[in-house]
Amino acid sequence: MKIIPLSEGAFSIDKTKVFVAFNKGSDDLQERAAGSLLVEIQPFVIITSNDIILLDTGLGFSNPDGVLQIHQNLVDNGINPMDVTKVLLSHLHKDHSGGAAKEDKMLKQHYLSFPQATYYVNKQELGYALEKGVPSYVPADFEILQSAHNVIFIEGNGVIDDYIRYETTGAHCPYHMVFWIEEQGQTVFFGADVAPQLQQMKSRFVAKYDYDGKLCMELRTQWWKQAQEEHWTMLFYHDIKTPFVVL
Ligand SMILES: [Zn+2]
Repeated sequence: MKIIPLSEGAFSIDKTKVFVAFNKGSDDLQERAAGSLLVEIQPFVIITSNDIILLDTGLGFSNPDGVLQIHQNLVDNGINPMDVTKVLLSHLHKDHSGGAAKEDKMLKQHYLSFPQATYYVNKQELGYALEKGVPSYVPADFEILQSAHNVIFIEGNGVIDDYIRYETTGAHCPYHMVFWIEEQGQTVFFGADVAPQLQQMKSRFVAKYDYDGKLCMELRTQWWKQAQEEHWTMLFYHDIKTPFVVL
């Protein structure tokens, strides 16, 4: 499998849940609001023998030409966004689902950013996100998933096409999902916001921003051990330095 991180850059985020671009070379985190966190925003593409899989969809920002950043990042890596076959969504917080759909400003209509792909989203997460709304969720970004024809709603734990396993872990938010993609003896694990950064895997730490911080910590401990025993490749959506590790 080929793994391609699609970084959208580094951002600071505070209680207001606004993502503010952060230049790692020249900005100082101390100058941001107290308690600000520094995070990368980093979807991934995994190329398998049958699929081009996108893991989460980033912030949904566009460049000055109006091109969606995630589309540009794919093109820059030699991938036509129309060739993406699957979009797996861990959860719908705005930094993970912002690029799922795009608005046509003239027609005031949203359409899926990856019209040829099948989207996989947790049904209960969708309901919860629509109800909860801002600031953590931006319903306009993903409302279309309710009615689009190429969406498969998943719940609980299961398997997609015999080689992608998923589990509903909750923990970071009530219906957060994680995925394992397994092919030719290789296991790629996407723990999304329950396992967002390498450093968090190595320390026992309960974050205030999680729905159930203690459960997040326990899952990280369990996965870190298992990842080493079973030689997983772990992807880190929010890691500033290390997009993934091969264990
Ligand atoms: Zn999140």
